Amino acid sequence: MAKDRGVVEVLRRKFPSRAGPVMHGKDVSYAVNPHAKGRLWRHLCDRLTAMSDSPGIVALHTALNVVAPATVASEFRSRGVYRVDHPKALAMYCSDGRFTDAVEELVHSLGHDRLDTMTLPGGPGLLNVWSAQTSDLDAVRRASSFLIKGHALTDVVLLAHAGCGYYRARFASRTAEELVARQLHDLRVAAADLARANANLQIRAFFARPDGGHVAFDAVDLTSREPLPVG
Ligand SMILES: [Zn+2]
Repeated sequence: MAKDRGVVEVLRRKFPSRAGPVMHGKDVSYAVNPHAKGRLWRHLCDRLTAMSDSPGIVALHTALNVVAPATVASEFRSRGVYRVDHPKALAMYCSDGRFTDAVEELVHSLGHDRLDTMTLPGGPGLLNVWSAQTSDLDAVRRASSFLIKGHALTDVVLLAHAGCGYYRARFASRTAEELVARQLHDLRVAAADLARANANLQIRAFFARPDGGHVAFDAVDLTSREPLPVG
């Protein structure tokens, strides 16, 4: 580890403007310019690549490999600040982009300025075997567990939305009311599934619907067995 730190230290000293890895315990934050060239740069990259026994360095070396070749330097830079610590909340929702910004707003209103996201058509419904393919259920379980445990998340927000194309396609013969009831049921199933696998997780659920040119979120009672009215 001492040797690893030495390489990182050289990177910080020699390339302060284009490669700024900073150690945070075992984690590394990195701001690497993929166009940084030169013998020392290549040497350091090779050294990092050879260090596979340190989690922090593996992360850095992976990042270097990902961003290195055939890209254009700094075409766009975010206004938002990059932070090395993970958010505490995960939002699981449908991919439907009509709701994306509103979901972020909602999660912010719940006290989380940043969020991890899992977006797939159908959203949390994929955690119910009656609404998902078995392979989808398995993949979503593994992915959510990876995020919750790996990022030490404390909160999960589950969302379904009005007019979901996934549910319309999967349950084509059902009425709109039946689909909503199914979606609410699936939110409860998803919450129970996540709670079983992750103790002490705070789980909330909402149903999103258009409302006067905006999006309203109705809180879903996860303990209820009855479908909730949507209005
Ligand atoms: Zn949808």
